[in-house]
Amino acid sequence: MATWVDSHCHIFMLDDPIGAVDRAVEAGIEWMLVPGVDIETSLEARRLASERPDRVLWATGLHPHDAERWDDEQGRITALAVDAAAIGEVGLDYYRNLSPRDVQRVAFRDQVQLASHLDKPVIIHTRDSFADVYEIVGEADLGEKAVLHCWTGGPRWTKRFRELGAIFSFAGPITYTTGDTVRRAAAEAPPERTLVETDTPYLTPEPHRDETNRPEWSSLNGLALADIWGMPGDEVARITSENAARVFGSPRG
Ligand SMILES: [Zn+2]
Repeated sequence: MATWVDSHCHIFMLDDPIGAVDRAVEAGIEWMLVPGVDIETSLEARRLASERPDRVLWATGLHPHDAERWDDEQGRITALAVDAAAIGEVGLDYYRNLSPRDVQRVAFRDQVQLASHLDKPVIIHTRDSFADVYEIVGEADLGEKAVLHCWTGGPRWTKRFRELGAIFSFAGPITYTTGDTVRRAAAEAPPERTLVETDTPYLTPEPHRDETNRPEWSSLNGLALADIWGMPGDEVARITSENAARVFGSPRG
């Protein structure tokens, strides 16, 4: 059986997170990465990782929705980051604009710099903000330490970020009937720089869209990639899992 990695799942939002880890492992998920979205959820992610240290990595960061809290959270997130596998989830969200854009940019740039300083990967949320994310990621020269989570940029942005050496991570939208742009983007993403994720509990892939998402369904997003690339699913499982281990370090040792 092919095994997959879920490079991005917020399992702390599920009713029984450790049960979800165990079921995912049973279903063929080798390991998963759990990004926090603020201090509290980062601590939760760290606790889950400590319960399943061979299956779960964690990351810490302040999500763009809450960027207004950056002044208050910066100190503790910076301290937590030392022991985390990555910085994230961070980024810019110009679709919902839950924090003012200039405030989002300050929090994002600071956290990109933190990742750069610690030489750790940074997990980036990009929504209607491609140009500004491109500028901030580009000036930090992160190479494949820039992980574009739930990538939805079209082919043009995919080519530009590809030149920066970034990693593209694909979630449920790649399976949606409305996901044409994402599929055309995936066609431009180099397999050796691509990851699969679920973004659990959000973005459940087809054909389960009426259910809460779960880590084992990263395989469905991977099989969609296999279709687009004309590659066997097992091969995509192997390549994306190797990429995840190279970028984040594997908890499997
Ligand atoms: Zn997320």
